[in-house]
This record gives sequence, structure tokens and C-alpha cells, in this order.
Amino acid sequence: MAVPLSQMWTVATYVLRQKMKGRKRYPLVLMLEPLFRCNLACAGCGKIQYPGHVLKMELTPEECFKAVEECGTPTVAIPGGEPLLHPGIGEIVEGLVARKKYIYLCTNALLLKQKIDQFRPSKYLTFSVHLDGQREHHDFSVCLEGGYDKAVEGVREALRRGFRVTTNTTLFDGADPKSVRAFFDEMMELGVEGMMLSPGYSYEKAPDQQHFLGRARTRRLFRAILSNRRTKWRFNMSPLFLEFLMGKREYECTPWGMPTYNVFGWQKPCYLLQDGYADTFAELLESTEWAHYGFESGNPKCANCMVHSGYEASAVNDTFGSLRGLWATTRAMLFSRYQDPEALELLNEEVRPVHDFASLVQLESAPAQETRS
Ligand code: SF4
Repeated sequence: MAVPLSQMWTVATYVLRQKMKGRKRYPLVLMLEPLFRCNLACAGCGKIQYPGHVLKMELTPEECFKAVEECGTPTVAIPGGEPLLHPGIGEIVEGLVARKKYIYLCTNALLLKQKIDQFRPSKYLTFSVHLDGQREHHDFSVCLEGGYDKAVEGVREALRRGFRVTTNTTLFDGADPKSVRAFFDEMMELGVEGMMLSPGYSYEKAPDQQHFLGRARTRRLFRAILSNRRTKWRFNMSPLFLEFLMGKREYECTPWGMPTYNVFGWQKPCYLLQDGYADTFAELLESTEWAHYGFESGNPKCANCMVHSGYEASAVNDTFGSLRGLWATTRAMLFSRYQDPEALELLNEEVRPVHDFASLVQLESAPAQETRS
């Protein structure tokens, strides 16, 4: 089982408490972005395109704790930017562990070996290492030759020291399902606890606009990847969300399920879009026009989106919303092979990986600095 029982229990009891209180909209995972600065400049990223003065801004540890307490979720994901560039990241993590929050510190792991002494192994702390596939694919995706080897080195060191480690993988058009499956094998052999997956979102600000997936292509790709699963693969995600990606079930987006707090405040409506900010979490819930978002809203910005920050909370809500949802989840955990001969044929289709016909853009930018604004 990829997620420890104590964590599952904490999340399950939290969701059931929200249901018993009759809360229609409740948060599940806080996406806490303490900075946007990064030591990579991935072609599909919309976060690092801010002007220099914004990239220098950081949340203080106190601002992070206030947001976490305001929101009240049992789980906090810390993406960015690269959180290991934050000079107070050790203090932030320590404060959240003391509050018994399950933390997923999302990192490209380039600095993990160097910074690891700032952290202590805990059941509450997981390094969620960004790896977009096998060596060649990952290096292309993050525009850095040697990026895969460096990240794997960080993973090895964290595992050696007894930390929880997962991978997080974003897939774009041109992903080769066979290679992604081989990557899963490699990660299991490396010894990570579980893997997380999401299709990429077509950020308007991202430099590479050509390789974002539409919904039909997303389902086809994930059906090819996730059908006929090897028994050794472990995913640190809702099994119903994976079924959603494979086209086996429909969900509507619940953007309030993974709210985002960053240097501008509470971001409306979700991790991906920026339609304004609220000063408090309560204000975010009250003042956002939620009906304007999600696939069914007809909002063109949501038309192709199937990302985990919008839809995984919908899947978790489904699990705990009815006996049918609970049974579907239990069945998905017990019978996780998803045998599908047609999906096997999809694996034999020729795919031309992006790095076959486009050269890797090696970025020359100076390493991002640890600076206080
Ligand atoms: S569908 Fe995607 S872009 Fe639209 S609100 Fe949901 S998560 Fe955000």
C-alpha cells in the first residue's frame, strides 16, 4: 500500500467530519507556494515567468503557518518554484510537522543532497520528487542535461536517510507510454514509496505551447499507461482519480479542494488560474464565482484541464460521499490490474518522443539565489 494507514485514517476522518458538518465546499490539500523562484526553467511551467521582483518574494514561516491554520487541511503540498531555495524551508517544515500536517515537499531534488541536513525523517514529511520520465525524457522536460541523474542521486540519499520519498510526474503530448511504464519499473526498483501522476496544464505563460494534451488524448495516453498494470507499481494517489484519467469515470472539478496560498494571497480559483486573490481563506470561498470554472462551465481555460489539483479532490470526495464511491475505491485497490487487450495494442503504436525531433534547450540562466525580498 503506497500511503501509510495512519495517513489514510487522518484524511478519511477529516473528510467524514466535513461531511457530517454538511460543508459543501471543503479543502483537502493546501497548495502552499512559499516562492516562485526556481533553479530550473521547464518549458511547460507557468510559475517562473514572473518578473524578477516577484521571483524574489517569499512567504515567511509565520505567513505559512497562518495559512495552514486558516485552511485546516490535514495535508499540505509545498510546490513553488523550488521550495529548497527558500532560506526558511527547514523552519517551515518543522513547524508543519509540529502541527501534525502531512507534508509533500515538491522538489526537483537538484539541491536535495546539499540541503537534507535541514530536515529530520518523519511520517509527516515526504519529499515528492519531480521526475517526468526516463533519463532522456526528464532532461528534455526540465531543459537540463543531467537533471535526471542529479534528482535520482537526491532520491537515493533521502531514502538512505530514512525519509519518505515519492515521485511526481507531469505528462505532456508526445509522452511514450512504453517508456513511462519502464520509468515506473525504475522508480519501484529505486525504492520510492509511491508515484504521483498528472497531465500537464496548458499555462498561457508557458514557453512551450505545442505539447499540451487535450482531454481525449489525455484519456488515451493514461489508458495505455495505466491498463495492464504491473503488480509492483504503487501510486500515492486516489485510485478513482487514476480511473478518471483513464476515461473510466467522469468528475467535475472541485477547485476549492486544493486551494493555493502564495505571495499574493489566496489564489482564485485554483492552483492553475489567477483570476484575483483573496486575503483570507473564508473570503476565497465566499467571493469566488465557482460556477465559472470546471469543464462543464464552458470556461475555455478549463476545457482541456484534467489535472490532479482540480480533480483529485473530486475523486476523494466521491470515495467518502456514498457507499457506491467507497465500494468503487475498495474494488480499485483490490483489483488494480485493469486488464485491457486494446490498451496493450496502444502500446505498440509508434510514438515519436518529443526529444527525437526537437533538441534539448539547455538553459544558461544563473543559479537562483537564496534571497530575502
Ligand atoms: S478545470 Fe482546471 S483550470 Fe479550471 S478551475 Fe478546475 S483546476 Fe482550475
